[in-house]
Amino acid sequence: MAPHTGLFINNEYIDATSGETLTIRSPHDDSLVADNVQVASSADVDKAVSAARAAFKGEWSTWTPEQRRVVMIKFADIVEKNADELAQWETKAMGQPISVSRSIIGFLTAAFRYYSGWTDKIPGEQWPENDGSYRIVQYEPIGVCAGIGAWNGSQIFFGFKIAAAVAAGCTFIYKPSEKSPLGVLQLGALIKEAGFPPGVVNILSGDGRVGAALASHMDINKISFTGSVFAGKKVQELATKSNLKRVVLELGGKSPSLIFDDADLENALTHSSQNFLFNTGQACVAASRTFIHESIADKFVEQLKARFEQFKHATGDPSDPKTFLGPLVDEKQFDRVMEFLEIGKKEAQLVTGGGRHGDNGYYVEPTIFLNPGDDARIYREEIFGPVITLRTFKTEEEAIKLANDTAFGLSACVFTSSISRALRVSKAIESGMVNVNSSQTFGMEAPFGGWKQSGVGREGGKQGIMHYLESKTISINMNV
Ligand code: NAD
Repeated sequence: MAPHTGLFINNEYIDATSGETLTIRSPHDDSLVADNVQVASSADVDKAVSAARAAFKGEWSTWTPEQRRVVMIKFADIVEKNADELAQWETKAMGQPISVSRSIIGFLTAAFRYYSGWTDKIPGEQWPENDGSYRIVQYEPIGVCAGIGAWNGSQIFFGFKIAAAVAAGCTFIYKPSEKSPLGVLQLGALIKEAGFPPGVVNILSGDGRVGAALASHMDINKISFTGSVFAGKKVQELATKSNLKRVVLELGGKSPSLIFDDADLENALTHSSQNFLFNTGQACVAASRTFIHESIADKFVEQLKARFEQFKHATGDPSDPKTFLGPLVDEKQFDRVMEFLEIGKKEAQLVTGGGRHGDNGYYVEPTIFLNPGDDARIYREEIFGPVITLRTFKTEEEAIKLANDTAFGLSACVFTSSISRALRVSKAIESGMVNVNSSQTFGMEAPFGGWKQSGVGREGGKQGIMHYLESKTISINMNV
C-alpha cells in the first residue's frame, strides 16, 4: 500500500502549500521509496501551530488525566499491531536493518505506556503561612510544543517527546528528519484511530527550513530537538531570538569506553563490537572512543578485529532479518564517513576495514583505528558510522582524563569487576549516562541526555515530563 506522504494537521493528511516534495530512495539499491513527501511551507507551519493552539485551549484542555491515559495506551496498542509495517518504512528509507527497526518500535510503545502512567502523578506543593502568605505551587502544561528529530531512530524520538508532552496535557507538532520521514508520517493515522482530538498531535515533513520555522515560531512554547550539535545550536539561537521558548537539546556524542584489566573480556568485546555496531554505528551513544588497559590491549585488539571482520558476513539487504549491518542512511552520510576513513588512515593505524563494503549501496566496512593522536579528527569528531578508535592507558587516573577530554558528554562505559572502581570512575566521568559492564542501555524511567555540548535538558523519566510543565506559585494573603 502507498504510504501517507501528506502533512498531518488536525487529524487529516493534507498537501503542503509550498508545492515542494521530497524524494526518498533506498540507500541499499537506490530504488524509489516515495517521491511525493510534502515539504511544509511557513504557512503550513502556522496552520499546524494554530491547530495545536486551538486544541490546547479547546477540547484537549477539558480531558481528564484518565482520558489522556486511555488514549495513550490505545495508541501504543495500535502501533504494536502495525509494528511490522511501520518498521519497514525505516528499513526502506534509511537502510536500518529490519531487526533494529522492529526493536525501535518497541521503544515508541514503551514510551507511550510509561508516560500514560504519569498523567495523574504530578502533585503540587503547599507551604503553610510564614510571612502572611500561604503558598500553593502547581504544575501546568507548558502549551504548544514542537519536536525535531534525527533520522537514526525516528520512532524513539517521536515516542519520548510526544508521550511526555501529551501526558502533561500539551499539544504537539513533530518534524521528522527529511531522510526518514515515512514511518513517522504513518503514525498520524494511528493517532486519529486511537482517538486523540484533532490538533493534539500534528506531523510536518520537510528539511531544516521547517525545523527553523518551528524553532523561531512566536506561538510555540517549547521545542525539543534531537540531532547534531551544529543544528542544535541554531535551534537554541532561533528560540532565544524569537519568543524565548523553552529548549531541550539531545545532541551528538563521542562517548568513551574504559576497559580495565580486571574486566570480563568476553563481555567487553561483545559491547565493543556487537553493541557498538548496532544500527551500523549510527547511534548517538555509541562508545566510539575506546580505551584499554595496556596489559590487555594486544589481546583485546586482536579479538575485536576478528569480531569486526565476522560482521562482513552479516552485512547486506536491510530487509533480511539476518542482516546485522545495513547501509549508511544516504550518499551524504556515506561520503562523510568515507572521508573520515581516509583522514583516519593518515592519523592512526588501521586495524581492519577502512573502505567501502561491496560495489553497490552505501555500505561501509566496520573499521578499527588504533592509537590516534590527541588532535586526530577521527578521535575528536563524531563520525556516526561503524568506525571505532582505540587507545591504551596505564592508570585509572589517566583513563578518566582521557575519557573526559572531549567537548561531548552524552554517555560512557566502564568495564571492570571491581564495584568500588566502577563507582569511583562513574563519579569522575563527565557525562549524562554511565554504563557499567554494559553499553547503550536505555530505561524509560531514567533521564536520558548529555552534559557539555551533548545537550541541554533531559528526556525520559520524571525529568522528561517536567520539561513539559511550568510551575505556578499562588500566594494567598492570609491577612485579608
Ligand atoms: P541534523 O542536526 O543534521 O538534523 C536533525 C534534524 O534537524 C533534522 O530533522 C533536520 O531537518 C533538522 N534541522 C537541520 N537544520 C536545522 C535548523 N537550522 N533548524 C532547525 N532544524 C534543523 O542531524 P542528523 O544528521 O539528522 O542526525 C545525526 C545527529 O543526531 C548526530 O549528531 C547524533 O549524535 C545526533 N543524535 C542525538 C541523539 C540524542 O538523543 N542525543 C539521538 C540521535 C541522534
